[in-house]
Amino acid sequence: MITIVGAGPVGLLLACLLGKQGREAILFEKRVGLPSSSMAIGITPPSLEILETIDLRDRFLQKGVLIPRARVFESGKPCGTVDFRRSEDEILSLPQFGTLSLLRERLSEMKNVRLHEGVEMTPERLRACKGPVIACDGADSFLRRHCGIPMRQHAYGVSFVMADFEDREYLGQEARLYFSPRGAVESFPLPAGKRRWIAQRTGNAPPTLETLLHRVQDAAGFDLSGREHGGLHPFTPRRTLARTFFHRQTILCGDAAHTMSPIGGQGMNTGFADAFHLSRILPEPTPEALRRYTRERQRAFRAAARRAALGMWLGTRTGTPASRARRLLLTSALHRPRIQTTLARTFAMRNLPRPRTP
Ligand SMILES: Cc1cc2nc3c(=O)[nH]c(=O)nc-3n(C[C@H](O)[C@H](O)[C@H](O)COP(=O)(O)OP(=O)(O)OC[C@H]3O[C@@H](n4cnc5c(N)ncnc54)[C@H](O)[C@@H]3O)c2cc1C
Repeated sequence: MITIVGAGPVGLLLACLLGKQGREAILFEKRVGLPSSSMAIGITPPSLEILETIDLRDRFLQKGVLIPRARVFESGKPCGTVDFRRSEDEILSLPQFGTLSLLRERLSEMKNVRLHEGVEMTPERLRACKGPVIACDGADSFLRRHCGIPMRQHAYGVSFVMADFEDREYLGQEARLYFSPRGAVESFPLPAGKRRWIAQRTGNAPPTLETLLHRVQDAAGFDLSGREHGGLHPFTPRRTLARTFFHRQTILCGDAAHTMSPIGGQGMNTGFADAFHLSRILPEPTPEALRRYTRERQRAFRAAARRAALGMWLGTRTGTPASRARRLLLTSALHRPRIQTTLARTFAMRNLPRPRTP
């Protein structure tokens, strides 16, 4: 019997992949019900291919919105556009609770995998587990700590504040990236006429709604005040990577194994690819298969994290000289079709090492 700990997006996906293969598995989740926070919104084309293997691609496409392009600005002036449609690299936007709800719905159709909510994995419960235990228990993984697997950690030194608002600017389905000498602001479409706004906190700016509203007004020229929002979410990204992804019968997957900056939107998608790889080597993985899993998924993580870090570094440099240099760089890059296509494929995670879908 395969035990999965954590019914976040990665644990649920793994449970569905195993369920579809006819494997017996049990999934423990300490929470009851769905969290309300929207968190990960970007689902890349390779993740949609993985979702297709469990017959979920169309349900995701019905529920989310496809992002056709990202428009880039520096100090209020347009620098150019990344067109995802040209290379068929559109990214789907769906709040994380939407992803969780679709995966749970699919899991409920599978008789061979059971979800137990409100059950926390503890050392006593762990001792009773027979067979592989898959740690999908998030960045603060109990199982990783219990196994004593060390993590490498790196702080990026930048902080953000975000919230989802009603879209009264009618920006449609495109993403907007506003860079400026005072910090970056990003905006992404969401289903049901909403948009996510994310602002970099600079100087001593507190993680408050006022900071977010002020930064959006300053960088994008939109006044979001007086609008309902689905909760304020301040975050300080960091990069972590587990030294190994397995210890005896415990195998790490998703945020339990690695985290990277959410700016770039690749954390959950990298976890989805981990789950897909793992689903191909369970239920009785050999030590060689596990070493290969660690090696290949660490390589994919490093590539994704490097890109997330580079994009974040470029976008968050403050001050007038950095802003001028960025404007020159972006304007020249975004007017070259080949660079545009490479950027679209990079955002869409098309050119990362990944497990093959059938
Ligand atoms: C603001 C923000 C925006 C983001 N945007 C994106 C994006 O656009 N695209 C993207 O790809 N990624 C994004 N990410 C990252 C993404 O949210 C994470 O990578 C993703 O949630 C990881 O999923 P997971 O299933 O590995 O872990 P989690 O989502 O953390 O799930 C872990 C689950 O395990 C449960 N659990 C923990 N301990 C136990 C235990 N002992 N027993 C039982 N259950 C337990 C928890 O309750 C939880 O449900 C974003 C993150 C943030 C913070």
